[in-house]
Amino acid sequence: MKAITIEPKKAGSAQLENVSDPDFHYGSVLVEAIAVGVCGTDVEMVEGKYGWAPPGEMRLVLGHESLGRVRDPGPSSGLKKGDLVVGIVRRPDPVPCPNCAVGEWDMCRNGQYTERGIKEIHGFMSERWRIEPEYAIKIDPTLGILGVLLEPTTVVTKAWEHTLAVGRRAFWEPRTALITGAGPIGLLAALLGVQLGFEVHVLDRYQSGLKPELVRALGAAYHSTSVADVGFAPDVVLECTGAGEVISDAISSVGASGIVCLTGVGHGGPVPTMPMADIGSSAVLKNNIVFGSVNANKRHWYKAAEALARADRSWLARLITGRERPEDFAKALSRGAQHIKVIIQFADL
Ligand SMILES: [Zn+2]
Repeated sequence: MKAITIEPKKAGSAQLENVSDPDFHYGSVLVEAIAVGVCGTDVEMVEGKYGWAPPGEMRLVLGHESLGRVRDPGPSSGLKKGDLVVGIVRRPDPVPCPNCAVGEWDMCRNGQYTERGIKEIHGFMSERWRIEPEYAIKIDPTLGILGVLLEPTTVVTKAWEHTLAVGRRAFWEPRTALITGAGPIGLLAALLGVQLGFEVHVLDRYQSGLKPELVRALGAAYHSTSVADVGFAPDVVLECTGAGEVISDAISSVGASGIVCLTGVGHGGPVPTMPMADIGSSAVLKNNIVFGSVNANKRHWYKAAEALARADRSWLARLITGRERPEDFAKALSRGAQHIKVIIQFADL
């Protein structure tokens, strides 16, 4: 079967190649791939900056934002042939650490977790893949191709859940949320914020085009200013850019007792002009919480699937701005900034 693979840590090694069919040890459920979303992590891996092959192998099958159709449910999965499923990405570490032991592999303490398409387990960019029944999430069949948005939705589902959980440390009635960055993560975070009843504001650098349109279509407000200039002090900031300047602005601009959740993974960039001690003082004097959030556990996958099923299908469809065939995977990986989510489509629905 065909698969898109890389030699991890080697730039330019990505190729579409023939590989053997998925090994049974990957799970008793056999799935035919329909589509796989491409994200910044995939791009970094193709650039040789990230990624680990399975032990004893040279190459890794890419892909962690999956959507597939069950071809063989195996003996005991509870799935049926034809069901649409998405594969959970992370697996608990083998030790296991206390968090992995209780099913919170998203909070792994020792870093020995593995991840499909990223860290030591083959991903989903292959014509067929196998999965353990307990890691296959069945989606609402009416979502169709939009099910490929489930994995990024799990990331923001966890971010929102943890934001509200840490807010319970004191009396807190949050009303306003500022999402920084209108990429797929930011837009899905805005969708969930609206579903949760927040007055949602989204900030990005584009002054016109699809991003402002999608934000306004949610009933949210769009800003193309800096965080400091949005004109209010948000109760919640969900930071989805990973840009240093935006992060320091978010911490200094969030309202009293407000929470800043960092989801963007950035590197380098200009040093923020505000000294760290001043950023710290701002957080102290306003009782702020600044925390990071990554990945998702099974509870978030369940909740994210519910949230997607509730969402407007035509709005979700506008998030998918590009579709490429596996042969043209390089085009999907070199997507321009005007794109929101580009997918590689392996089969029709
Ligand atoms: Zn762990």
